[in-house]
Amino acid sequence: MPERRVVIVGGGLVGSLSACYFAKRGWSVDLYEKRPDIRLPEHSNLVEHRSINLAISERGFSALRRLDPELEARVKESVIPMHGRMIHSLDGKQTSQAYDVFGKHINSVGRSTLIKLLLDEASSYSQVTLHFGYEFINADFDSGRVMLQDANSKEECCVDADLIVGADGAHSRVRQRMMTKVRMNYSQTYIEHGYCEFSMPAQEGTFAMNPNHLHIWPRGSFMLIALPNLDHSFTCTLFMPWSQFDEIKSNDDVVSFFRKHFPDALQLIGEQRIRLEYAANPKGSLMYLKCAPYTYKHRAVILGDAAHAMVPFYGQGMNCGFEDIEVLDRIMLSQSDKAGDCTAALSDEQLQQALSEYSALRSVDTSAIVDLALQNYVEMRAKVVDFGYLARKYLEGM
Ligand code: FAD
Repeated sequence: MPERRVVIVGGGLVGSLSACYFAKRGWSVDLYEKRPDIRLPEHSNLVEHRSINLAISERGFSALRRLDPELEARVKESVIPMHGRMIHSLDGKQTSQAYDVFGKHINSVGRSTLIKLLLDEASSYSQVTLHFGYEFINADFDSGRVMLQDANSKEECCVDADLIVGADGAHSRVRQRMMTKVRMNYSQTYIEHGYCEFSMPAQEGTFAMNPNHLHIWPRGSFMLIALPNLDHSFTCTLFMPWSQFDEIKSNDDVVSFFRKHFPDALQLIGEQRIRLEYAANPKGSLMYLKCAPYTYKHRAVILGDAAHAMVPFYGQGMNCGFEDIEVLDRIMLSQSDKAGDCTAALSDEQLQQALSEYSALRSVDTSAIVDLALQNYVEMRAKVVDFGYLARKYLEGM
């Protein structure tokens, strides 16, 4: 069988997991990531300031398990289960709301821990080569020629691919270039809200709050949330309209703001830390995007945020990106009946058929999750304290 080569652009969560899947199915894999290798100690703080930790759910675990149950087990060793929400009211009262009566739950995992585990897993396949410090510039999608730039020397080079996978995030250049070839519908919307992270340190060597909850301080038009970390700290994220961020003009203003709206969190984070971190930490913007189709002939496909970035309020962006890979793998395998579990043996026609089936199926589902994520923001910042609403939801579920 002639060697089939896939070039994956982006070595984030989705790119690194997809490298493993393609290698398992017999492909020769070259992954190009524009940043340096974050597994090296000198670059370990380079994981983009986006969110220190993430919620991983069954949707994400399923994709890990399908690749390798041992990988799923390794990731599970690094998570903290969150069995419900803990709602913090203004007077400091905490109310636990279980996610599920049968104990189903989500889990907090460190973003850099997870990427490192996935990059290690990808490196363990002999047919995977990881290239760090290479930025995708352009591609000739018909011939499969990919143009890259070395981040240090700025020299450009070309490589050839049978298939190009764009896993290069919300501002995907692969997607941008594909749009010149494909009649791709595309929409992108920034919401009025931004976010800023704070760390809540361990207190006397242990968690300052119950670690098995996703903590929420819902305040109507804005909210604070907190997810636990393995070092017994919490990462807190303030989501708020930009107009309100603009009203905070000094370090004293941010302390007054916390004193007014989140007095219990202020006590646990500490005034000094709130001042320092508000000044030092970036304020991130939030957007969602939809596009379709996701593919070009048998030559290119986009996965993860490149295809469907969403606001983080459903905790499903990465989970959904992992599911993309699982769904694509199932569809490609169903095309390769004769080739067993080796999708590298698919003909160009079979591959094109698989990719377009994937795109048609997946773009509908991910569009729905993008909408659900947006709706869940209203639920988290306002409706979790509307007990009439919760009662109606409870009765609906009976
Ligand atoms: P990315 O993580 O963006 O990775 C893309 C990679 O491509 C990067 O490494 C980048 O350096 C590289 N790259 C970009 N351009 C190029 C190029 N031209 N050449 C080469 N490399 C390139 N999701 C969840 O499931 N649960 C959560 O709890 C959750 N919380 C979140 C909280 C916040 C505040 C935010 C903003 C997002 C959250 N998400 C969450 C969403 C999650 O972060 C994303 O869905 C996920 O990171 C997408 O992974 P990705 O690999 O597709 O893209």
